[in-house]
Amino acid sequence: MSFINISQDFQYLMPTKIIFKLGVLSELPTLKIQMGKKPFIVTGKYSSKINGALEKVMEVFPNAEVFDDVEENPSIETCDRAGQLCRDSQCDWVIGIGGGSPLDVSKVVAGLATNGGKCEQYFGRDLFFKTPLPILAIPTTAGTGSEVTPYAVITNPQNNTKQTVADTKIFPKIALLDPRLTITLPHQTTLSTGLDALSQSMEGLVSKKATPISDCLATESCKLIFKWLPEVLLQPENIEGRYWLLYASLLSGIVIAQTGTTLVHALGYYYTLNYKVPHGVANALFLIPMFKRNITFFSEKLRFIIEFLGEEYYREHPEISLKKALLRFFKDINFSPISTSWGVPDDQLELFSEQLHSDSYRFRNQYGAFSKKEIYNIFKETFEI
Ligand code: NAP
Repeated sequence: MSFINISQDFQYLMPTKIIFKLGVLSELPTLKIQMGKKPFIVTGKYSSKINGALEKVMEVFPNAEVFDDVEENPSIETCDRAGQLCRDSQCDWVIGIGGGSPLDVSKVVAGLATNGGKCEQYFGRDLFFKTPLPILAIPTTAGTGSEVTPYAVITNPQNNTKQTVADTKIFPKIALLDPRLTITLPHQTTLSTGLDALSQSMEGLVSKKATPISDCLATESCKLIFKWLPEVLLQPENIEGRYWLLYASLLSGIVIAQTGTTLVHALGYYYTLNYKVPHGVANALFLIPMFKRNITFFSEKLRFIIEFLGEEYYREHPEISLKKALLRFFKDINFSPISTSWGVPDDQLELFSEQLHSDSYRFRNQYGAFSKKEIYNIFKETFEI
C-alpha cells in the first residue's frame, strides 16, 4: 500500500539497461556489448585486480585504456586527471568497474570527455551541455547503486565537502551486475556498504520526492537488507545472500535516482571527511537520531521496519519502537551506533552544526524544520545512543 497523497504527481525515469545474473561477467564475450571503438576503463587500485573483474573485461576489450587510480571518496583532482587521459587516448566510451568511487569517477570522465573543462564546473544539476560518452557500469560493492543513478559524488578538498554532479545524461547506458564479484568484499566493507544501501532506501521512504514506485522499491530493499546482511556477515561466501544484497543495493540506487538522499547523508559526510569513517557507517550512525524525528511524519509508513525486525509497534510512541528495532538489527550485525566506537571525537560539533545549518541545499528533500541547536543535538545524540 502506498502512503503517497493522491494529489501528488510524480515522474519516473530509469534509462539504464540492467543485466543482473550470477556469473554474468564470465559471459561478457557473448553479450556483445560494444558502445564504441575504444573503451576507457575506470577502476580502483586493487580490488578489481584481485577479484578478476578487470582481467575479464580486458580479455574482451584488449585495446582499452585503463585508469586504475581511483581512491575512496574520490577527489576532483582524480576526475580531472582521468578525464584528461580519456581525451588524450581518444576513447569513445567508458567502463566503470568497482564500488561507488570508481563508478562515480567514470561518470564525470564521460562528461568531461565530450564537454571539456574541469570537474568543479559541473557540480550542480544538468550542467553537461554535450552528451557524455556512453557508460557501462560494473559494480563490485553492494551499497551505492551508483550503476543506476544520475549522480557522481566527488570530494572537493578546497572546501572539505562532498559535492554532487547530478545530470540525467550520466545515467550509465548499461549496468552489469554479477553478485559473484562481491564475494571478495572484506567484512567491514560488506557491513559499511550494506548499511549505505539501507540508509539510501530508508531515506528514500521519507524524502519529499518519494513516489509510489520509489516506496515499493525502498520497502523491498530494506527488508532484503534486514534479512540478508546479518547472514552474509556471518558467512561471507553465502552466494544467495550476496545475490540479494546486490539486488537490494540496486533497488536503493533506483530509489535515490528518484528521491535523492536526505539529512542522514548530509550529516554523515562530516564524519567521513573529517575522521575517515566509511561512508555507509557514517550514514548508519545517524539513522536512529534522524528516524526518531522522521517517524513523527511517517509513523504508518515506517511501521513495517519495526514489525519486520520483530518489535512491537507502539502507536503512541513509534519512535521508541523504531529505536528498539534498529538497535536489535545493529546488534544482529554487531554494529556499534556510537560515534566514539568509530573514532569520532565530539569537539567540532558546533562547527559542523553551523556549517550544515547554513547550507540550505542539504535540506531540500528533508521534512521538518531544523535549527542550528537541533542539528547540534542530532550530532550529539550519535554519542549517547
Ligand atoms: P568504494 O569507495 O568504491 O570502495 C571501498 C573499498 O572497497 C575500496 O578499498 C575498494 O577497493 C574495495 N572494494 C570494492 N569492491 C570490492 C570487492 N569486490 N572486493 C574487495 N574489495 C572491494 O566504496 P562504495 O561504498 O561502493 O562507494 C562509496 C562512494 O560512493 C562514496 O564516495 C559515496 O559518496 C559514493 N556514492 C555514490 C552514489 C551515487 O549515486 N553516485 C550513491 C551512494 C554513494 P579499491 O580501492 O581497489 O577500489
